[in-house]
Amino acid sequence: MNFPSKSIYKRVLLKLSGEVLGGEKGTGIDFKEVRRICEEIKEVHNMEVEIGIVVGGGNIFRGAENEEGEIDRVTGDYMGMLGTVINSLAIQSVLENMGVQTRVLSAIEMKALAEPYIRRRAIRHMEKGRIVVFAGGTGSPYFSTDTASSLRAVETNAEVILKGTKVDGVFDADPFKVKSAKMFPYITYMEALQRNLKIMDSTAFSMCMDNKIPIIVFNITVPGNLLKIMRGEKIGTIVK
Ligand code: UDP
Repeated sequence: MNFPSKSIYKRVLLKLSGEVLGGEKGTGIDFKEVRRICEEIKEVHNMEVEIGIVVGGGNIFRGAENEEGEIDRVTGDYMGMLGTVINSLAIQSVLENMGVQTRVLSAIEMKALAEPYIRRRAIRHMEKGRIVVFAGGTGSPYFSTDTASSLRAVETNAEVILKGTKVDGVFDADPFKVKSAKMFPYITYMEALQRNLKIMDSTAFSMCMDNKIPIIVFNITVPGNLLKIMRGEKIGTIVK
């Protein structure tokens, strides 16, 4: 790929949902897709951008989706958070195999395999050019990794949240169901709330709004999109 090497951002928070890591099926880990995404992340890193990644876990387990009721919600949520740790280790391995230095910082202490999440340490790692992978969500049940993304973005002074999804941006209707659905190039936080658009859950969304962190929702399954955003091209929907 032949992109200019300059990035308009210095520090970003990339949110990778579990579904994206699960590739076409959306479940398990599709290493071919993970490698492709990591190659793009490496190119962004080469632009001297400081990168934090919050990893989802929906490809492994979601606490609220335990329909048989065998597992209580809190336990289910911890299982979901452990899923994010599995995904984080996969991303770390793939990036490190490409020669990129990374650290996994977990909100749930797991000393044998990840550092505990400590805000100042996370920032220090990023300043030293290491990609920080935030595992374990917020560490608390009843939250989501979207909330973890807004929290970590605010805590680490990221300029923007890049929400990598399987759709091109934010639409006025479900693009998989409504053919005529229109994508917004820009939308304000207020308009998104008024239109009841589900960009993130409400906790995550209000944290971004209160702290004025823009969110770019974009299709990360399209090769090159992440790099285009970094060099200031208009990709996806900007919420601000
Ligand atoms: N989770 C949680 N607290 C958090 C983050 C995640 O309890 O701070 C649990 C929750 O059960 C959630 C699951 O982990 O459903 C996986 O996270 P999420 O659904 O946000 O992953 P994604 O949709 O991004 O793949």
